[in-house]
Parts: sequence; structure tokens; C-alpha cells
Amino acid sequence: MRDDLDRSISILQGERPAPMSGEGYPQDSADAGSTLSEADRTEAILHSARSQRDEVLAALDRIDANTYGRCVGCGGEIPEGRLEARPDASRCVGCQAKHTRRR
Ligand SMILES: [Zn+2]
Repeated sequence: MRDDLDRSISILQGERPAPMSGEGYPQDSADAGSTLSEADRTEAILHSARSQRDEVLAALDRIDANTYGRCVGCGGEIPEGRLEARPDASRCVGCQAKHTRRR
């Protein structure tokens, strides 16, 4: 899974016209919201691939630390069905819902 993401990220990075644009590009273009350029779309996909990769790496760390499958919120076990759907899940459904609401 991590290898897949690494591959997607490097492909996407190769497609980007400006490789060093970095995080947080300016948001001062008032009417840029109506039409997403190809570069913006790639940037968005790349961003989500990166954050997914972070989740996967965190899950791998938890496997090393023998805490994989435990909720980082309440310490309870994450149901197996949830781990099958989201192998990188770090919280049980209840804690994830609380965490998402807080953001
Ligand atoms: Zn929990």
C-alpha cells in the first residue's frame, strides 16, 4: 500500500509543471474557484495522496510498536471490519467521528 502511494506520488510529481511550488500557494486570485486548472487538480490529488501516505506510515509505525489495531483516541480495539475497510484507520468509529467534528 505504501509502495503504491509512493509510486502515485512520484508520478504526480513528475506531471506537475512547477515542482517547487511547495505548500500553501497564494489564494489571492478571486475568480480562480470556478475553473480548476489541470495543475490545481494534480496538486489536490497529490495533497490527498501525501496525507494518505502519512496515515499509512503512521499505521506501519503502530505495527512496529504493537499498537496497531488500537484506537489512538480511547485505546480500545478497532473492529476488524473497520480495519479491512480502512487499513490505516487509527481510531475507532466513535473517536474518528469526534475527531472529524473537532476539525
Ligand atoms: Zn476510540
